[in-house]
Amino acid sequence: MAITASIGFPRMGPRRELKRMVEQFWQGKIGEDELTARAAELRKLRWQVQRDRGVEWIVANDFSFYDHVLDAACLFQVVPERFRGLPSGSFEQYFAMARGSADAAALEMTKWFDTNYHYLVPELEPQQVFALGVNKPLNEYLEAKALGVDVVPQLIGPVTFLKLSKVVGRDADPLSLLPNLIPAYEAWLASLHEAGARWVQLDEPALVLDLTDAERQAFVDAYAALTKGPRPNILVATYFGSLGDNLATALELPVEGLHLDLVRSPDALQQVHALGWPKGRRLSLGVIDGRNVWRADLDLAFAHLEQGVHLAGPEHVMVAPSCSLLHVPWDVELETDMDPEIKSWLAFALQKLDEIALLKRALDEGRAAVEAEWEANRALLASRRASARLNREDVRGRLDEAKGWKLERQSPHAVRKEKQAARFALPLLPTTTIGSFPQTQAVRDARAKWRKGEWTTDEYEAYLRGEIRRWIDIQEDIGLDVLVHGEFERTDMVEYFGEMLDGFVFTKHGWVQSYGSRCVKPPIIYGDVARPAPMTVRWSTYAQSLTEKPVKGMLTGPVTILQWSFVRDDIPRAETCRQIALAIRDEVLDLEAAGIGMIQIDEPALREGLPLRRADWEAYLGWAVECFRIASSGVRDETQIHTHMCYAEFNDIMPAIQAMDADVISIETSRSHMELLRAFEHFRYENDIGPGVYDIHSPRVPSVDEMVELLRKAANVIRPEQLWVNPDCGLKTRGEPETVAALRNMVAAARRMRASL
Ligand code: GLN
Ligand code: ZN
Repeated sequence: MAITASIGFPRMGPRRELKRMVEQFWQGKIGEDELTARAAELRKLRWQVQRDRGVEWIVANDFSFYDHVLDAACLFQVVPERFRGLPSGSFEQYFAMARGSADAAALEMTKWFDTNYHYLVPELEPQQVFALGVNKPLNEYLEAKALGVDVVPQLIGPVTFLKLSKVVGRDADPLSLLPNLIPAYEAWLASLHEAGARWVQLDEPALVLDLTDAERQAFVDAYAALTKGPRPNILVATYFGSLGDNLATALELPVEGLHLDLVRSPDALQQVHALGWPKGRRLSLGVIDGRNVWRADLDLAFAHLEQGVHLAGPEHVMVAPSCSLLHVPWDVELETDMDPEIKSWLAFALQKLDEIALLKRALDEGRAAVEAEWEANRALLASRRASARLNREDVRGRLDEAKGWKLERQSPHAVRKEKQAARFALPLLPTTTIGSFPQTQAVRDARAKWRKGEWTTDEYEAYLRGEIRRWIDIQEDIGLDVLVHGEFERTDMVEYFGEMLDGFVFTKHGWVQSYGSRCVKPPIIYGDVARPAPMTVRWSTYAQSLTEKPVKGMLTGPVTILQWSFVRDDIPRAETCRQIALAIRDEVLDLEAAGIGMIQIDEPALREGLPLRRADWEAYLGWAVECFRIASSGVRDETQIHTHMCYAEFNDIMPAIQAMDADVISIETSRSHMELLRAFEHFRYENDIGPGVYDIHSPRVPSVDEMVELLRKAANVIRPEQLWVNPDCGLKTRGEPETVAALRNMVAAARRMRASL
């Protein structure tokens, strides 16, 4: 009999209960006891829901108050010095590590593989000692047991844990600490064994990355050591990609089970077959997409399952999502306002559990036993494929046409730069901002009034124009050279565009955890994307009408829109991206025709979209750059194209940045003290660059001196003629007084720097 599994479940709860309780706790509205009690309720609900939907392999410890990597760090008492004054194992210490405290900066946060989930990076000392601390996985295991639910404790595996950590104070490989860490894992396994756990799930997604021989050896050594003592059976879970050249290592580990992501790696079972499946081992088949929201093609999933049964035997097979369901929303049935046709194509976490249960029945009882459900699924998929809302002749026709375009600006950058200099007559080191100004409570209240119908659209838009006018005046008063309208009309840089483009649908409750209590509600791209009407032109032209200075038009780039949405799975991502790019191109050309001379196309997600494996980079960067050029290359030489990226490791993508050929790129550099500019120097980047001169994540107002200092550093690396002066990123999360003060200092810094050149 096949086993149904959910190797991890959304944390927030159907109505983001976790977010609420944690934030109330932070605000002092509830105490520890209430937080603890409500968290236990939520864990109970999550277990029950899974059990009621027929899941047999339900995990414990996928719940977290903030982040599972932080939890693992706490489990093994990896607490940096600066937090050790706080009571060990307390909420106070835990949340201080997550969010910082008055006198200690939080742990660094970064993306969990190629997802939009952010984890906290454990900080290891060069001689880090690990010891089993508060045993949260064990406690949750016992908690479930008391509720009558048999769960599998889950934890990030030792090698992935170290690979995601950093050693501070010395340039050392975190994996060198493996011998110190293993005994702590052994003690943890022994504690679960003693408590009666028969299995544990150790997540080792690092197995889908490019690994060195030494790293592969680390897996072998770690698991050889781990498996010696008394312990439960171990299932190693891999996901987000193909094991490829690490598959042999994974098969060699002396563990009792392995989970494979068959959505990202559809030919994994052929590869396993070639190497031979170790007899008696449990094979967990990730056939339901844990990263996307579409109903599964059950025929395809079933084919994988049959192959899996053939390899491992029916009693050793698990039917599972490709990865933890953390990355999809809770329940599509909560979307009571959604277009019913589109809704019928969607599966969120609960629906995915139903698919898993159905697949198990098909395996155990034969396909005939589930014929009715099966046919219903086929009919749904067929209706989706055939829907005229998905496939639009006009969009396809334009894409074909675009294949013949050269996607090049009329002249090379040097020529454009001269023409643009003549048009805009900017000083050396022009000053500007990245786009958004503070989204104050007043702005949010205005939007809420309009959404609730308390304000008419005219009233709301009059308010927005008032804000634009106010901020144009402020910018002129500060003395900025290139102005922006402030993005007051946008809640979110992707949602705003998605709402105006065809092919997108929005949810009311489709929240996915981004980090801590922060959730995002990604738009769903279900069909061909097209732009029915201009999206930003009236805001930009209004702003431009108020000033003699140039106002930058402000657009979100195609790759970023794609990257921060759930994307259709029936055509390649690149194809959807090209469609978005065409829509943005139309907007760019309309802005240009309306007299907007500078247009910024933000691509903060371009770097993060880089595939996990280097072998896939070239193809990705190829179409990502192509899409940027579709969007940007149609303008005259005199029109200045800007782009913006947030913090990123640029070395890897410099040729792509060059190929984007934006006239100006602004990047986040202040926290790296301009170190990131080295890549631009090294690759002899010729176009203009605006390295951020102050950190927008903090309310602190930087002094003129420190910004001059950063500008000096920048001017040592790139030519002053290339250099722009701007903050690191948009200012929407900042307050108004600090924003104005910081920008005044920035303009003063630019002036002082100009005078010294
Ligand atoms: N133009 C956007 C803003 O200023 C860019 C935001 C981003 O890079 N994430 O808010
Ligand atoms: Zn940014």
